[in-house]
Amino acid sequence: MIISMKEMLQDARARRYGVGMFNTFNLEMALGVLEAAEALRAPVILGTAEALLDCCDLHLCHSMLSTLAARVKVPVVLHLDHGFTEKTVKQAIDIGFGSVMFDQSELPYEENVSNLKRLADYAHEKGAAIEGELGHVVFDTTEDTGYAYTQPEEVSDYVARTDVDALAIAIGTAHGVYKEKPVLDLERLRAIREITDIGLVLHGSSGLSDDDFRNLVRDGIQKFNIYTDVSFATSQAAHDWVKGHDRCIEKVSVRMRAAAKEAAMEKLRLLGCAGKA
Ligand SMILES: [Zn+2]
Repeated sequence: MIISMKEMLQDARARRYGVGMFNTFNLEMALGVLEAAEALRAPVILGTAEALLDCCDLHLCHSMLSTLAARVKVPVVLHLDHGFTEKTVKQAIDIGFGSVMFDQSELPYEENVSNLKRLADYAHEKGAAIEGELGHVVFDTTEDTGYAYTQPEEVSDYVARTDVDALAIAIGTAHGVYKEKPVLDLERLRAIREITDIGLVLHGSSGLSDDDFRNLVRDGIQKFNIYTDVSFATSQAAHDWVKGHDRCIEKVSVRMRAAAKEAAMEKLRLLGCAGKA
């Protein structure tokens, strides 16, 4: 069952749990994650990202995900993660994604604000929600420059002027695989949470500890973007099967799906969203 991002984040905030956003651009990952959500009766967000469109274009991905989402009882939101261009973000809204992220976090503050406001107006006119990022979560943990923690004093102004529905913040996480254990700035999160009622989003949630998840949910994150751990588990399952057995794709496919399900279930349990659907 497809619902709006607003509804999903509001319920997560009211009942103090986190929801997982999983990028699932192929059938194995999408089915696996949905089976995980159904098994745990958990709301879930399925998505794709601009960087993943070579694997499956927006139209096809939306057709696949909306068809699968309509077949399950648990609430599902369809989301475009990390749209970098206005064209892609608008296209996703036009196609019917209920939520989009327009990532302008590498631009100067004022440009980030004006670009998000322009696309927020577009999204809202068409009934979609939009996520912006304030501060900058790096894409590669080997990057030693470019990380920018979210400044709590900018949050009210950003949310008011952009009219975004969800806010991605930088409090110590990074995308991809961590070389060293990330240090989370929970004090910064609590300061931001006190300032705004908006749904808060954490990017780079793969590789966090069980305690990290519990603390982040307690201190006010509603949406957790999780990709690397499920992606690696899924391809590892394919690798393991092919290494020791024949290469029949149907046997690989069921193992990928089962691995995606198992990896997603592990995360959903930590987020506290099991039984909330
Ligand atoms: Zn991200």
